Amino acid sequence: MKELSHFIAGQIVKGTSGRFGDVFNPATGEVQAKVALASRAEMRKAVDAALKVFPEWAAVNPQRRARVMFNFKSLVEKNMDQLARMLSDEHGKVLADARGDVQRGLEVIEFSCGIPHLQKGEYTEGAGPGIDIYSMRQPLGVVAGITPFNFPAMIPMWMFGVAIACGNCFINKPSEKDPSVPLRLAELMMEAGAPAGVLQVVNGDKEAVDAILEDPDIKAVSFVGSTAIAEYVYSRGTSHGKRVQAMGGAKNHAIIMPDADLDQVTNELIGAGYGSAGERCMAISVAVPVGEKTADALVKKLKPRVEALRVGIPTDPESDYGPMVTAQQRDKVKDYIEMGVKEGAELVVDGRGFKMQGYDKGFYLGGSLFDRVTPNMKTYQEEIFGPVLQIARAKDFDEAISLPSNHTYGNGVAIFTRDGDAAREFAAKVNVGMVGINIPIPVPLAYHTFGGWKRSAFGDVNQHGTEGVRFWTKIKTVTQRWPKGGVRENVDFNIPTMR
Ligand code: NAD
Repeated sequence: MKELSHFIAGQIVKGTSGRFGDVFNPATGEVQAKVALASRAEMRKAVDAALKVFPEWAAVNPQRRARVMFNFKSLVEKNMDQLARMLSDEHGKVLADARGDVQRGLEVIEFSCGIPHLQKGEYTEGAGPGIDIYSMRQPLGVVAGITPFNFPAMIPMWMFGVAIACGNCFINKPSEKDPSVPLRLAELMMEAGAPAGVLQVVNGDKEAVDAILEDPDIKAVSFVGSTAIAEYVYSRGTSHGKRVQAMGGAKNHAIIMPDADLDQVTNELIGAGYGSAGERCMAISVAVPVGEKTADALVKKLKPRVEALRVGIPTDPESDYGPMVTAQQRDKVKDYIEMGVKEGAELVVDGRGFKMQGYDKGFYLGGSLFDRVTPNMKTYQEEIFGPVLQIARAKDFDEAISLPSNHTYGNGVAIFTRDGDAAREFAAKVNVGMVGINIPIPVPLAYHTFGGWKRSAFGDVNQHGTEGVRFWTKIKTVTQRWPKGGVRENVDFNIPTMR
């Protein structure tokens, strides 16, 4: 059986804890590899390697660090097919979508190539007589990223792209469900010219995460995953004095105004609701048609499209989406569907009976559609994270705004309309972090920032963009005096002021 190890101090290092996790091939249901689960001592080895190289890496001038990022970008592009296959093999998403996963991460690497400009400080000349003030953004040191299964290329690159370009040394603790791509990215980063120890991968579970959260030499932690763990990572990490940003789960609504083009909306909802088997934190999981007429027409259009979804093996270009990541994840979604029925929602399409011919042990699940879902239902309140779209009907625009605004989660939201006024008002008023106007999955590009509100994110600073540079650096401000005529002789006992 293939063994997936760690990448520490520039080398593949076998796990020594004696503990392993199963890595499945979701298409066939077979265990395809064992991944080493690190002990605290193994995590510490990575921290030591990072501490050793940090002074050297932080002293490399920004332009040279940018060149490493440029090299890395072209290496990832050269290896795109291999990375996409690896990713799809362990995650189950279709190949074209796996390429998108790598590509969205690469965009952050492209952004990070601009680090000489991004890391510049500010300067005030003549703030007082002979006095200038300037600031600099310095790297934090050894930092870590704990990443989820659903974007094993993009999310590590969101984090380490900016962190490394800023001069930090980064340890990635990827999801134990699909660790191969993060391991390969670390090898490519070294090939690109980053010294050994600048990007390391330590595989593991809670033990490795706790080792990160409690290690005094790890200065900042970025986390992306489910809300319960995000909250845990945030509180434990900050109580150990670290800077932490922790992105959690979601329940993204799409508001459909009566004037929207329903054919267009149907296409968008099918793609955003069922793409990647709904295993995206920005998937649309609740459609909110405004008015009964809009709702009836929408359900009529959606039903045959959900029934016609082509669930298939990830390597088949005809597949709309592939299997779910694990049997456990698939069964959890099935349980939610059962619960939805019991709660009184109307199950318009039931995907539970879907069987994939020739792959009966694979983790496939057909698409499901619920109508008449209401805010008191548990299946509305919680994240399902599967190929299930729920329709929650709203009587008017105000109710449509209030649904996502009052929901516990606040990651993304979309509105479909031809009315600029309504869209503008919606964007200004809705209590959610990322808004799409006629865009179903409003994941901002790399030079903007990514982050939800409410229980979708803990901490104040978003991923990538200039916020990312802020997160991965600390600002130092220097006030200097070079007076004409030498040293002043008088002593001033008062707080210095500028009059
Ligand atoms: P998860 O929370 O199960 O795992 C995320 C990471 O935490 C993994 O590295 C995992 O090993 C680790 N982990 C799991 N259990 C732990 C525990 N008890 N203690 C310490 N660490 C633990 O999430 P997942 O299933 O890998 O990913 C799906 C979730 O991530 C969904 O909720 C999705 O909405 C969310 N997500 C959010 C965003 C965002 O930006 N807001 C992006 C992608 C995914």
